Amino acid sequence: MPLTLASIRQAPKAVLHDHLDGGLRPATVLELAGQCGYDQLPAQDAAALGNWFRDAADSGSLERYLETFAHTTAVMQTAEGLRRVARECALDLAEDGVVYAEVRFAPEQHLQRGLTLDEVVEHTLAGFHEGERLAADAGTPIRVVCLLTAMRHAARSLEIAELTVRWRDRGVGGFDIAGAEAGYPPSRHLDAFEYMRANCAHFTIHAGEAFGLPSIHEAVAFCGCERLGHGVRITDDITDSESEPKLGLVANYVRDQRIPLELCPSSNVQTGAVPSLEKHPFDLLARLRFRVTVNTDNRLMSDTSMSREMLKLVDTFGYGWSDLERFTINAMKSAFIPFPERLRIIDELIKPGYAVLLG
Ligand SMILES: [Zn+2]
Repeated sequence: MPLTLASIRQAPKAVLHDHLDGGLRPATVLELAGQCGYDQLPAQDAAALGNWFRDAADSGSLERYLETFAHTTAVMQTAEGLRRVARECALDLAEDGVVYAEVRFAPEQHLQRGLTLDEVVEHTLAGFHEGERLAADAGTPIRVVCLLTAMRHAARSLEIAELTVRWRDRGVGGFDIAGAEAGYPPSRHLDAFEYMRANCAHFTIHAGEAFGLPSIHEAVAFCGCERLGHGVRITDDITDSESEPKLGLVANYVRDQRIPLELCPSSNVQTGAVPSLEKHPFDLLARLRFRVTVNTDNRLMSDTSMSREMLKLVDTFGYGWSDLERFTINAMKSAFIPFPERLRIIDELIKPGYAVLLG
């Protein structure tokens, strides 16, 4: 089966790094803005608004990229707004052939109209569950797990870690920190990570995206994260020799420990973490046998989907179905759900799905 956008959409996929507030449908942003009286949107029709998000995110700076979220989070301040966005997120991922998704968002950014942290989580989970039901009815079943993010410039990370543990048996799978990385090292939130570890609870950390190796070092060595959000700057610890790359202490540790890298090719280019897709270290890291995974990050801002990210990698690095299967299994091995459930998805969905495509 040739690798095209259409055929890749048929392949079972898993995404570990997708932001709820980065994946809204432009038409939904407009409708919800109308409903809640938000009048700051930079465009008034869906196509123009979609273009605006992509262009703003293309600026090459993480700070500018993060500005786009002011508009999406503004329309996610009510029960109905959260529920709808979560429902549509599950449906959009399922329609793209994603069978397992971990979708993250920061509850503390959704309190402007009086919802409590627990209510924010409750309505969002209700939306995911509705989406899962509708997707199953449509013949495109998906499992969606929610990750709760704390903003790294703020001081609520322990509270969000506690929220994560409180909701962990009801659809929340883990914890994360995100936001401006430079100046806000992971160790600033050490108490939150210690709380998570003490509760045997899962967490990932955005690190090695806008800032380099020290951030990754802290995330894995001090904070003990299970996965790295992006982690693309791990290449700072790999000597750039095409014939025989040499790994430093941190890079070796990340590879030895099989710490998954949640790589987001389009987003990494947009934020300037890498200069271009052709220069993205995805392939170098894959060849060095790091546990690489393919992710969307922000589907709206990057105008992308899991299938599109995979197609870009296929076009850039010449990957085949067996490579896409390996990246997908890497993601499932690293998922924040119990081991038997990971195995079931790998054995019953991923492997049979790729076997058909491999012929
Ligand atoms: Zn992210």
